[in-house]
Amino acid sequence: MTDTVHLSPPDIGPLEESYLIAALRSGWAAPAGPDLEAFEQAIARRVGTDGAVAVNSGTAALHLALLGVGVGPDDVVIVPTLTFVATANAVRYIGARPVFVDCDPRTGNVDVDLVDELIRRLRSRGERVGAIVPVDMFGSCADYRALTPVCVEAGVPLVEDAAEALGASHDGRPAGSFGRVGVLSFNGNKIMTTSGGGMLVSDDTTLLARARHLATQAREPARHYEHHETGYNYRLSNLLAALGRAQLLRLDGMIARRRHLRDSYAKLFAPVPGVRLLNAEDTESNCWLTVITVEPDRCGWRADDLAVHLAERDIETRPVWKPMHLQPVHRGAEGLLTGAAERLFTDGVALPSGSALTEPQTARVFTAIDEFLGLRVRG
Ligand SMILES: *Cc1c(COP(=O)(O)O)cnc(C)c1O
Repeated sequence: MTDTVHLSPPDIGPLEESYLIAALRSGWAAPAGPDLEAFEQAIARRVGTDGAVAVNSGTAALHLALLGVGVGPDDVVIVPTLTFVATANAVRYIGARPVFVDCDPRTGNVDVDLVDELIRRLRSRGERVGAIVPVDMFGSCADYRALTPVCVEAGVPLVEDAAEALGASHDGRPAGSFGRVGVLSFNGNKIMTTSGGGMLVSDDTTLLARARHLATQAREPARHYEHHETGYNYRLSNLLAALGRAQLLRLDGMIARRRHLRDSYAKLFAPVPGVRLLNAEDTESNCWLTVITVEPDRCGWRADDLAVHLAERDIETRPVWKPMHLQPVHRGAEGLLTGAAERLFTDGVALPSGSALTEPQTARVFTAIDEFLGLRVRG
């Protein structure tokens, strides 16, 4: 038995250990504490926003962000169909309806012309569009140069789902800073982790204060427990914030490692007709996951064939997100669709991309792919 090569395992070492132990010994094994505040400030500095609120998941951050921009139960919210289910679920938590929009096939990010058209269509029917939630796909920012003016002109608040994109940028501006509010995730498979956690980042300090209030059971400042509305238990623990502080110190190194891996994949697949690396030309990506797309007509094999070959060698891959309009849980939701997301789901595959992968592990991956390509080309 060889050990399994995972897609994007946590990258945890002695620095994280020392931060976590220090937090334990400080006596702040409580849901609040000095590491929490320091972590929020460090992330806000990194993203370039005036503030940040740490919560216990990216999903919780999305929920509070949507509430923060004023989404209500009668609203529709524009969500990419190509995303992780959390983006759409957060809309449902409020009782609002997600309306799905397809992606640009070249990037996997939302197709801005479709967004523009969808806003018009929904408005002409008298719908209130509460927000649009672009996702920075696999660590590459959406096309904010085009999208921001569309949202500004339509007066629709932009909530940036940057769960996959911490450390990336677009035109030199950090991911997370593009909307009224941005959302980050520190889930175990993300570019950096607190084992589970998330963050809201924004220049709108009123919005952030309200999110903080709602995240702590909407407890009023009184000596007894006083509550005027329904809040949530969404705060990140101080211990996990300590883990996050250590991870953030290593973020640039972890991004460099992922970029190096992506460059190696690019070299490996360069001579193969019909295979393309998604967003290979985006030099500002954080390279969270390297995804290839495969045109079977041109190369004679399917993305699935490679996935099976690698799985037989204990190497984990993952299809691109299954589009939301194909998910039973969101069946019946409206969408403006072109088939682009469905094609990426069929033809795309994410390859092992984690910064914690060792040299012997990545060598095993490259050898296995070489072997696969050799078999396919020479028969
Ligand atoms: C991971 C992810 C989330 C949710 O983050 P959690 O921390 O797992 O709740 C939301 N949106 C996208 C696009 C993600 O990839």
